[in-house]
Amino acid sequence: MLTRTGRIGVMAAMPEELQALLDLMPDETAQHRAGRAFWIGHLHGREVVAVLSRIGKVAAATTTTVLIEHFGVRQIVFTGVAGGLGDGVRVGDVVVADALVQHDMDASPLFPRFELPGTGLSMLRPSADQTAAVRATVEQALAPSALVAGDTLADVHLDELGLALPRVHQGLIVSGDQFVHSAQACAALKQALPSALAVEMEGAAVAQVCHDFGVPYTVIRTISDRADDQAHVDFPRFIQSVARRYSLAMVDALLRAQ
Ligand code: SAH
Repeated sequence: MLTRTGRIGVMAAMPEELQALLDLMPDETAQHRAGRAFWIGHLHGREVVAVLSRIGKVAAATTTTVLIEHFGVRQIVFTGVAGGLGDGVRVGDVVVADALVQHDMDASPLFPRFELPGTGLSMLRPSADQTAAVRATVEQALAPSALVAGDTLADVHLDELGLALPRVHQGLIVSGDQFVHSAQACAALKQALPSALAVEMEGAAVAQVCHDFGVPYTVIRTISDRADDQAHVDFPRFIQSVARRYSLAMVDALLRAQ
């Protein structure tokens, strides 16, 4: 599913996630470009370039462009956290994107709302085959048996955070340059894009750059909040004890998979 022969770019949204990945790589060295540290090394026999995406669409687009144009990656995997929008998308669940929209793109009346001017597209879709394979691998990586016995996940204590076992969803992820944190903003997004499962700040920008360069990509998000006025969990604790570990287990499984 991921390329055996070319470099794979792994973009993490948070330093904790990047560090967990770097700890697994035996041989990484940093190269600096555009004020970012790109970590080049290997994992499970594959050549990996790992980097912090930085927050927001422009930052993520720049990071993606450098990965592709300067470091020559053939594929990109993005992991991070997101706000849950869809019914049944709970804190602690995971969403694999099969479509991405920039929810704050609006050049109407010149172009339809959400359309990326010049492309005729508002929704970008990673390859369906790859999405299905990624979803299956992620489901396996986060299966209850892995949560009990897996190296990375054995000490995830979901009950302490009041979380259920993770469900893996597949669907639309929407991105924009806003941290969505009110019931009102949430309702407006759901009205405009009813099928959206999660909201974050980078995925659809990564998708646009990958689309332009013809590079396959995958966006995976662990739900950290419900994008509303309630703080469901202690965010730093959630990142440390759940999101960071899920992210590592998922990326590790994707890189191992044939
Ligand atoms: N407290 C964190 C804030 C990160 S949350 C910190 O100190 O860094 C913002 C990141 O999480 C963004 O990269 C975004 O992609 C994602 N995210 C999580 N929940 C979100 C929400 N409700 N709305 C938008 N982005 C969200």
